[in-house]
Order: sequence, then C-alpha cells, then structure tokens
Amino acid sequence: MDAKSLIIGNWKMNLSHLEAIVVIQKLWYRLDTSDFDRAEVVLAPPFTALRTLQTLIMADRMPFGLGAQHVHWEREGAFTGEVSARMLAKLDVGYVIVGHSERRAMFGETDELVNKRVRAVLAEGMTPVVCVGETLSEREAGGTERVVTTQLRGALRRLTAEQRGQVTVAYEPVWAIGTGRHADAGTANEVCSLLRDTVSAMAGPRAGEQVRILYGGSVNPGNVASLMVKRHIDGALVGGASLDPDTFAAVVRYWL
Ligand code: PEP
Repeated sequence: MDAKSLIIGNWKMNLSHLEAIVVIQKLWYRLDTSDFDRAEVVLAPPFTALRTLQTLIMADRMPFGLGAQHVHWEREGAFTGEVSARMLAKLDVGYVIVGHSERRAMFGETDELVNKRVRAVLAEGMTPVVCVGETLSEREAGGTERVVTTQLRGALRRLTAEQRGQVTVAYEPVWAIGTGRHADAGTANEVCSLLRDTVSAMAGPRAGEQVRILYGGSVNPGNVASLMVKRHIDGALVGGASLDPDTFAAVVRYWL
C-alpha cells in the first residue's frame, strides 16, 4: 500500500470540455503542493474532455493524473462508438474505471467483459480501477461478501500475480452511489479488508498488500476523513462531489 491516498473524481457524463477547463483551473488554484504530497488526485472526465485536460496538465505542469471512465478491449477496428486502451494511453491516461455499477446496470456489463477491459488496460501500462459493490437488496439478503468477491474474482481472472497486485479496486455499494447515503466507515473497511484478502488468496500476500482499495459512494467533505483513516481504505472514488472545485478540494484536503 502507498502512503499517499488516491482520490479519483469520476465526472460521469458531466462537463463539456470548456467547463472542464474552468473546473481543473479552479481546483488547481485551491490546492497546494502539500496536498499533492499527501494525495494523488486524478480527474476522470468524459472522453470529450480528455485531450483538453491532458494539454492543460502538460502546459501548466499541473500535478493531476488523468482517468477515463470506460474502454474497449480491442486495439482498433470496426467498433463504432468505442475507444481503445491504446488511444487512452496516448492521451497520458493513467487510470481507467472498469465495471462501474452504472455500466453494469445500464449497459449490460458482465464480469467477463470487465475482465477483458482490465486486461486491455494493463497491457497498455495503465491501472484499471475495478468497481465492485452490492445492491440494497443483495445487502439486505446478506449477500455483500458473495457479490463483491465474485465480481472481484471475475475481474482478476487470467492475470498474473503481479498484475493482480497492480489493479486498483473500488468498493462502491450501489445503494450509496449518488444517494447521499454512505457506508459507515467500519463496514466499508471490513469489506475492503475482505477484498484485500481475496487478492491475497488469488495472488499471494505481496499482491494483497500492494493492491490499492478505494471506497466510493456519496463521499463528501463531511464523511471523507472518517473513511480515509481506515486501515484498508487507500483512497476514494468520488462522483457528485468532484464536480464542484470547492467541494472536491475539501475532499482532497480531508486531513485539515
Ligand atoms: C461513483 O459514481 O463512482 C460515485 C461514487 O458517485 P457519488 O460519489 O456521487 O456517490
């Protein structure tokens, strides 16, 4: 595990490339060097803003990382509407979100497809951020452990032990996403610990220590600190609260 937290803002289908410029500039203005010493801050805009943010980050030497929200597993070809891992890597994308619950629920994402995307992302030297999480009914039926470990095992199939340790996992209970209701820190930590144990069981204790595990689901400036201090939570995947520069800056500066 890294001493630095990893905080990823998932902008989902929000902000045009012009609006994205305003947000990154305001965010940069609100953060200082010590914030970036403590946290790796990654922005995952829609595809349409990636090139714009990459250019700004490079030109102004901003210490932000770049993330993408989706990827196709093939390198190129007749796949209308899709974007390949190679194309993302060329834009200096470092992280790719895979298996987000919105894609699982709305776009037929299966564990098999998640696995294909994970392998394509790793092959291009980027880090997949594999999202796993249970729905409310699964939780109420006592199925959390089974659901998240099945999703994680599916995502990590056909990888080497080394690759398994390189993946970032985001525990995102579906009932907490965009609802204003977050998992309490103790429960989130227990699930993240289980996910770490799952990686250890599949790839050895070294990979289990190395893998970064994030919590996501209604993270905001008021609850982030209680989550980030937990042993098995290495960072946060932030949706709604990452769209506003003041709010996201307050999330990044959670220790203040
Ligand atoms: C997400 O979509 O990954 C997410 C965590 O959203 P929110 O923070 O808005 O719940």
